[in-house]
Amino acid sequence: MNVVVCVKQIPDPAAPGALDSDNTLTREGKLILDESDSFGVEMALQLVDTAGEGEVTLVSMAPNNEVSGLRTALAMGAAKAVLISDEALAGTDALGTAKVLAKAVERVGDADLVLTSTESTDGYTGTIPTQIGQLLDWPALTFAKHIEVGDGKVTIQRQTEAGYDTVEAPLPAVASVTAGVVEPRYPSFKGIMAAKNKPVDEVTVADLGLDGQVGWSGAHQAITAVEAAPEREAGEKIEDEGDAHENIVSFLDELKVI
Ligand SMILES: Cc1cc2nc3c(=O)[nH]c(=O)nc-3n(C[C@H](O)[C@H](O)[C@H](O)COP(=O)(O)OP(=O)(O)OC[C@H]3O[C@@H](n4cnc5c(N)ncnc54)[C@H](O)[C@@H]3O)c2cc1C
Repeated sequence: MNVVVCVKQIPDPAAPGALDSDNTLTREGKLILDESDSFGVEMALQLVDTAGEGEVTLVSMAPNNEVSGLRTALAMGAAKAVLISDEALAGTDALGTAKVLAKAVERVGDADLVLTSTESTDGYTGTIPTQIGQLLDWPALTFAKHIEVGDGKVTIQRQTEAGYDTVEAPLPAVASVTAGVVEPRYPSFKGIMAAKNKPVDEVTVADLGLDGQVGWSGAHQAITAVEAAPEREAGEKIEDEGDAHENIVSFLDELKVI
């Protein structure tokens, strides 16, 4: 079974973020594997292991031919990667990103399953997984907390507020996985050394036949303004004059948390 995992390479979330003058995120220097996507990589490796055949391929759209995050995922055990990096991608919106990733999946050619996370750590629109499914005309299953593949179909436990729904679809399909779905392995030293020589297919917008459909000219979204989130207001202080428990209960009741 062949699994493609979409992995986003993002600025280190531990470093203070910065915006360019066009309100897009500054993506200079080293980018790292989005931790959200390490769950998809681990899940893919386990599915291929269970199937006993096939391989895991990564696809990533990133600026400046960045491969640092890809190398981390290759060191975990993925076999190869497709990197789409091109100056023409500057300003690409979420739909444009999905178009690029769907075309890259087609370029890989033999995918049974595409995995993504439910949302990225830096953009978190959460729209890419279903857009890829729509563009490929494949079913998209979302919020998977458990995945099984067999008999030509994929079955997931779809996380809900109350528990989970069991959802299945024929392969090929797209599935987005929640954080914590599996415990991502740490790359071993051997894995890190092996990752240096694993193939990364570097492609451009033209290679994917998407000229004019991505970048600023192809975008249907624009970030018009960015504002700092409001400071958190000070909480309500309840003095205990023998009735604090009642006040706390009625406060929580008002918030509808009990
Ligand atoms: C107006 C606008 C301008 C933008 N300009 C730029 C720009 O100049 N340069 C730029 O690089 N991006 C740009 N973007 C793209 C943006 O940063 C996001 O990558 C894109 O919109 C995907 O949205 P998301 O991260 O919210 O995806 P989500 O739907 O939250 O992501 C879910 C999952 O989809 C997969 N995924 C998402 N993005 C990628 C990716 N790039 N590669 C591989 N897998 C992925 C991952 O598995 C991810 O966990 C722009 C977006 C907008 C709206």
